[in-house]
Amino acid sequence: MIIREAKFMMSNSRVDQCPPPTLPEYAFIGRSNVGKSSLINMLTGHKGLAKTSSLPGKTQLINHFLINDNWYLVDLPGYGYAKVSKDSRATWGKMINYYMRNRENLACVFVLIDSRHSPLAPDLEFMEMLGAEGIPFVMVFTKADKQSSSRTQQNITAYLQKMQQSWDELPRHFITSAEEKTGREEVLGFIEEINQQ
Ligand code: GDP
Repeated sequence: MIIREAKFMMSNSRVDQCPPPTLPEYAFIGRSNVGKSSLINMLTGHKGLAKTSSLPGKTQLINHFLINDNWYLVDLPGYGYAKVSKDSRATWGKMINYYMRNRENLACVFVLIDSRHSPLAPDLEFMEMLGAEGIPFVMVFTKADKQSSSRTQQNITAYLQKMQQSWDELPRHFITSAEEKTGREEVLGFIEEINQQ
């Protein structure tokens, strides 16, 4: 897919204030510092589109970007940042759960996972929730340039094995590096595939 245009639309905390649900929507989420902003900028080819935040967990809003006048890319606030208070974590949980359950044009959630780690509870719990709610999602293993590809594969296999304990069908996964711009065609091709269905 060629990205001709990527524009920021709006930030808000309420599903009923999001843009009209007339275009397919793809949401990106993951633990703070997972490389979400870098990935969004790499995918769209716009360096400063999503802000690579210096303070993790700072952006607590639903951010809509319109791509090619054809689909929405949504940057969701990250989870699992220790310095965020219990209250704001609860607010985050409510907002995200509500968004996931009620955003009718949500075509797929991209769950970003740092490829350097063996399975982490917050990632597994979040995907459990998506699976239980029947929300379509895929996994994106980020920062793959940080270690050998065999190490990345090891971590991916460990995630899939964990998930196999709960689910018969495993989600699709992608491997990306914003640094080396890898995985871009695969992720954008997948979005294009769904858009054409
Ligand atoms: P966010 O908090 O999830 O939006 O994460 P950021 O995109 O701000 O990235 C967090 C840190 O990881 C920054 O220092 C980035 O430069 C770095 N980073 C993000 N993606 C990659 C990647 O693919 N490779 C490498 N080596 N570093 C990355």
